[in-house]
Amino acid sequence: MTRSIRPLVAGNWKMNGLKADLAIAAEVAKGYDSTLKAAVDLAICPPATLLYLATAALVGSRIATGGQDCATHDSGAFTGDLSAQMLADAGAIFAIVGHSERRTLHGESNATVKAKAEAAQKALLVPIVCVGETKDERQAGKALSVVKKQLRGSVPDGSTAATLVVAYEPVWAIGTGLTPTADDVAEIHAAIRAELARLLGKPAASGVRLLYGGSVKPSNAADLMNVAHVDGALVGGASLKAEDFLAIARACG
Ligand code: PEP
Repeated sequence: MTRSIRPLVAGNWKMNGLKADLAIAAEVAKGYDSTLKAAVDLAICPPATLLYLATAALVGSRIATGGQDCATHDSGAFTGDLSAQMLADAGAIFAIVGHSERRTLHGESNATVKAKAEAAQKALLVPIVCVGETKDERQAGKALSVVKKQLRGSVPDGSTAATLVVAYEPVWAIGTGLTPTADDVAEIHAAIRAELARLLGKPAASGVRLLYGGSVKPSNAADLMNVAHVDGALVGGASLKAEDFLAIARACG
């Protein structure tokens, strides 16, 4: 952790969740007690169909909501897309952009991710910009260079600690139960902080929250969250169980 940075634990529900599953959000809110509130910020990113309802269910809980993607455009003939302004209108505070599933399954380039992050910021959402190497890239010793290139291509110019969150999510760790070693996470997170300092200047970069994501669960959260420059977690599968999500949050406290 970076002691001067308030950690954030964000849940990415992906394409999971019907109205009945808002009970998970309600249970998280119930467990977000004063001790946790003093220590860590929480956010839940449900599917877009539940965003408004989740935000309403979480009113008064101090738990934020977020979208899982946003369009590059403000409005217009883009059937099926959702603008950042629409997400904000539904109550979102954050928008995940550049998740590896979007980069891979929807062919999103760094330029597209940057345009989405800029659109999010324009709508006063905080983009959670995801970066991370594939298994082949790590095995080829390219993890650092891949992540730095993604950052250079995806992070909006002029971002600040208040307008940007970065999530390091090694693709091979997402949903697999595999995690990098603490040393590997430390190396990448330190490099992300240094690259952000080059891009945004040191004062801005030193406060940006850097989340780790990829198979975070209650059993490994403390080890991962204790790594330098890890300021919270982006949690997929484990965010669908309130007790697990809260246990991960406690590991940041
Ligand atoms: C994710 O998809 O952002 C993620 C981190 O997934 P999981 O926690 O399931 O690996």
